[in-house]
Amino acid sequence: MSEFRLDFHDTATAFADKSDSQLKEKYRIFRMLNSPFMNAIGTRAAKFALSLGLPIHGLIKASIYEQFCGGETIEECEGVINKLAASHIGTVLDYAVEGKATEDDFDRTKDEIIRTIQRAKDDPKLPFSVFKVTGIAPLGTLERLSEKRKLDAKSQAKCERIHNRVYEICEYAYSIGQPIFIDAEDSWIQDAIDRLALEMMEKFNRERPIIYTTLQMYRTDRLQYLRNARRQAKADGFILAVKLVRGAYMEKERERAAEKGYPSPIHATKAETDAYYDAALDYCLKHIDNISFVAATHSEASTHYLASKMHGQQIAPDHPHVYFSQLYGMSDNLSYVLAKNGYNVSKYVPYGPVAEAVPYLMRRAEENSSAAGHVTHELHLIEKELKRRKSSRG
Ligand SMILES: Cc1cc2nc3c(=O)[nH]c(=O)nc-3n(C[C@H](O)[C@H](O)[C@H](O)COP(=O)(O)OP(=O)(O)OC[C@H]3O[C@@H](n4cnc5c(N)ncnc54)[C@H](O)[C@@H]3O)c2cc1C
Repeated sequence: MSEFRLDFHDTATAFADKSDSQLKEKYRIFRMLNSPFMNAIGTRAAKFALSLGLPIHGLIKASIYEQFCGGETIEECEGVINKLAASHIGTVLDYAVEGKATEDDFDRTKDEIIRTIQRAKDDPKLPFSVFKVTGIAPLGTLERLSEKRKLDAKSQAKCERIHNRVYEICEYAYSIGQPIFIDAEDSWIQDAIDRLALEMMEKFNRERPIIYTTLQMYRTDRLQYLRNARRQAKADGFILAVKLVRGAYMEKERERAAEKGYPSPIHATKAETDAYYDAALDYCLKHIDNISFVAATHSEASTHYLASKMHGQQIAPDHPHVYFSQLYGMSDNLSYVLAKNGYNVSKYVPYGPVAEAVPYLMRRAEENSSAAGHVTHELHLIEKELKRRKSSRG
């Protein structure tokens, strides 16, 4: 058999739908992200200026926001949805509003999440929806639930409201057959999220995968969790559906563990996280008949690993139980090359009011500055494509 290879450096494919000026703007933003000083000053200054009501909304919207977000409303995302669909990439509308605290806020967010599911109804351009439990639930209650502490009457009432919101979202997704991800969050609230996700999978994944839980493979206990969940799914007769990520909150996890004096739940090294991530991919592939899964990663190595394993095991690139996923504005070289080769690919497209999306943008900026290798790689790919275009024009 010939050696399997996907060319993730095929920049003509990766940037086919970007004009020269769009590419140059992307280059400018990534250059800024590559400078830790500019990055730290820029994002904090933006947050501060917005909190003061300074008129920088337009500036942010036309720059970093446009690179990583689809628009301020679902309607404003239509352009991005169509652009991605033209390259056979699905959109996952991600309502990027965080840090809300009142019951009314949580209800409003729940209603907006339901609108994202409604928008996706019968539209293959939007293969998945998504939500974060912290968008619809108070942190304190999730923490108490995770610690299995006894709840007083007030917390009990909050807990019922959380359950009702999660149930309403999942039941609606099920009623229209729209698959939906439940994002993973901090380990000290994740037990509560896991229990909700398992309950929803048990209820709504009887015929096909609708509810997807998320596993952060930077956690040392997640491979065993995956095995246990599969056994439970098999015994109880539902399809296990998982989104596999490495995990976004490593620094916070380590800091809290050190502060409170418990062992960090995160692997000691990146190599261990990588090995666990790929082991989870192997495990899901091995049980592909009972597990539906999404490799949500910007790692070229893991993406190529999964694609080549599928090739080796003669699993069709568009097998309905295997999806790849990236974030909008990042790793287009993976998304577009995978899609061109017939794999199932989607991108998270965050949206929401500019001021509300700043925490999300800050995370992207911080993530990009801490994973400097990624940004340097993105810059290198853009340079390569600009040069290629120049020389092809003679
Ligand atoms: C579509 C999509 C959905 C996502 N959903 C979620 C979600 O629900 N919850 C969530 O937490 N994150 C989520 N993420 C973010 C994800 O967890 C990662 O933070 C991000 O994708 C970077 O990891 P990577 O696999 O892309 O690539 P890489 O750049 O190869 O890996 C970076 C990651 O490796 C791990 N790592 C880095 N250094 C070390 C170290 N020294 N020791 C141990 N581990 C280390 C960290 O997890 C770090 O984020 C999502 C990402 C995508 C693309």
